[in-house]
Amino acid sequence: MEIIVIGGGAAGFFGAIHAAQAPHTHVTLLEAGRQPLTKVRVSGGGRCNVTHHCFEPSQLVQNYPRGGKALRGAFSRFQALDVVHWFSAEGVKLKTEADGRMFPITDDSETIVEALMFAAKKAGVHLRNNVLVQKIEKLGKSDEESKFELLLKGGETLVCDRLLLATGSSPSGYAIARSLGHNLEPPVPSLFTFNIKDPQLHQLAGVSVNPANVKLLGVSPTKKNSSRNQLEQSGAMLVTHWGLSGPAVLKLSAWAARQLHDCQYQAPLAVNWIPALKAEAVKQILLTAKTEQPKKFVSNYCPVEISLRLWEYLLTKANVELEKRWADLSNKEMQQILNALTASEYAIAGKGVFKEEFVTCGGICLQDVNFQTMESKICRGLYFAGEILDIDGVTGGFNFQNAWTTAWIAAQGINQTV
Ligand SMILES: Cc1cc2nc3c(=O)[nH]c(=O)nc-3n(C[C@H](O)[C@H](O)[C@H](O)COP(=O)(O)OP(=O)(O)OC[C@H]3O[C@@H](n4cnc5c(N)ncnc54)[C@H](O)[C@@H]3O)c2cc1C
Repeated sequence: MEIIVIGGGAAGFFGAIHAAQAPHTHVTLLEAGRQPLTKVRVSGGGRCNVTHHCFEPSQLVQNYPRGGKALRGAFSRFQALDVVHWFSAEGVKLKTEADGRMFPITDDSETIVEALMFAAKKAGVHLRNNVLVQKIEKLGKSDEESKFELLLKGGETLVCDRLLLATGSSPSGYAIARSLGHNLEPPVPSLFTFNIKDPQLHQLAGVSVNPANVKLLGVSPTKKNSSRNQLEQSGAMLVTHWGLSGPAVLKLSAWAARQLHDCQYQAPLAVNWIPALKAEAVKQILLTAKTEQPKKFVSNYCPVEISLRLWEYLLTKANVELEKRWADLSNKEMQQILNALTASEYAIAGKGVFKEEFVTCGGICLQDVNFQTMESKICRGLYFAGEILDIDGVTGGFNFQNAWTTAWIAAQGINQTV
């Protein structure tokens, strides 16, 4: 049986390697670029965050702003622990960092590239680079078992019995899927930083706070993917020369990717710089400071656990004179400090590009895919895997996990029909 996999990324390789395990199959992997696995190479800052140390499917799915529900069953069949075992069997040991991210012990994405290349070769996958698939035609009715004809750039045609489309977020992959009758959730960016026009904030560049809480204001949850508490995220946050970054901000950008796109990345944001304490407790701490340290300058004595630099900035944001003594603060000023600490407002004015990891929200509608096999419900013999689907995760290795899992299931689905 002739199987063609389009897209030499994580999903395409994993799918091709596993599809080639069945007897009497011949798998060809077509990659448009000069070399495959480009994203794996650059991923995780060159270290490749392969997956996440989360081996409970019901918890794993909570890291997917889109697709978590559909992945629940898929993860019960092939999850992060299976990935760890697979790489281990291929001679690649993974290690876990304090935040749960898993990397090869070499800290080098090339280790993952080499393992995938070697496994593909061992399985007999025929890899062809520099091959852009332009068009696909189903020979026969789309709901019948029949062959596919692929038109390549340059005019060559190929015919196959089963097709796995793993073209990531490439427009040509989306166009092929649409031409075969599939619906597409419009692709928009996910995992980005926030630009904030506040020169005083920019002066704090490099300051990180852990945890901070960030909350989008004036944005309604969509019925599909966000509840109100998903528009509020906690975690480490980093001040940059342009605005705000770090895991809390990236998570929020992912959960609200579509809403932020719809408002052209212009929305109010509230930051709680000390979310570990309830507002009432912070109020008490400020009152205690006032009674116990009345003579101290407010800028010299910070009663909460933040850096003095950040404290000074927040006093300025609260419109409180730095030379004031604690005893001289009015009730209004005390309230302003409380607000600055627990609910500072900012205007998001555009998105930054986070170079470590970004992903696309949107893609093939999940209703068009049978998650038992990853086969299209619209076009028999066609399978999907990876980022081309309307699935995306937050940072931490979840996007590769989606690629490994859906590709593995697609390969099993294909092999069942062999
Ligand atoms: C800078 C960066 C860092 C990242 N780091 C991480 C990380 O550490 N951990 C993590 O989990 N996720 C990370 N991600 C996200 C992750 O890389 C993607 O989710 C994942 O690579 C998707 O895999 P895929 O195989 O579905 O698609 P891709 O990796 O995009 O592969 C698709 C392939 O298909 C090829 N192709 C497209 N169209 C055609 C066509 N018509 N004909 C032939 N070939 C075609 C493309 O050239 C490409 O090679 C990162 C993303 C970026 C951009």
